[in-house]
Amino acid sequence: MIRQDIHAQNADPSKMPCRDCIYRDRDTMQIDGKTVQTGIMRATCKFFDGKRGNWKPNAVYFQNEPCPMYEWDETAERFWEEKK
Ligand code: SF4
Repeated sequence: MIRQDIHAQNADPSKMPCRDCIYRDRDTMQIDGKTVQTGIMRATCKFFDGKRGNWKPNAVYFQNEPCPMYEWDETAERFWEEKK
């Protein structure tokens, strides 16, 4: 028998490179009066649209590694700075 630890892993919107990328999905949701960036937690964005297996790279989505297609959106950076 092979034993292996299993770890659940979810996308962390505060650490993903998508949080301030111009290609991010900009959908939001109001939870308890706060705006939550739900769009960036999706497996797709304007560049990686999910068609024919074109999903966000796992390393970007799950491990917050740099994305080869990332482009900085200055307005998003300001939004996240205000949340600190
Ligand atoms: S291009 Fe990369 S960094 Fe930008 S939203 Fe898509 S997956 Fe995230």
